[in-house]
Amino acid sequence: MNSIALKNKRILIAEDDDACRYLWELTLEAIGCCFVIVKDGQEAVDQAKLNKFDIVLMDLRMPNINGYEAAAALRAIDKAVPIIALTGYARAWEDGKCQACGMNDYLTKPCTKEQLIEKLLKWTCKVNL
Ligand SMILES: [Mg+2]
Repeated sequence: MNSIALKNKRILIAEDDDACRYLWELTLEAIGCCFVIVKDGQEAVDQAKLNKFDIVLMDLRMPNINGYEAAAALRAIDKAVPIIALTGYARAWEDGKCQACGMNDYLTKPCTKEQLIEKLLKWTCKVNL
């Protein structure tokens, strides 16, 4: 899958689980995009205040500020940035709670590199595969 268009995109990813975070790092490095990875919702909000990102990938269950609260706080700062929920359960999206916090889409964990590329292209390049 062609991910060249993603090379100049800036991605913020929040994930509290060490193993998941390591996997996200490997996958994003393999894609070749520029990313900042943080461990909880508070760090995500802090990062978003300091830097402009093209997309935010947000785990839902995290300590301090969870993904729902962090998404709502990010949305108050930036009305346009796409926020993608990272969740093990599609139900977390289907119940409408993510949308209510301003999230645009979701990605189920674990996902393949191709699924991640597809989601990033859709929301940062408006490319639908
Ligand atoms: Mg978590």
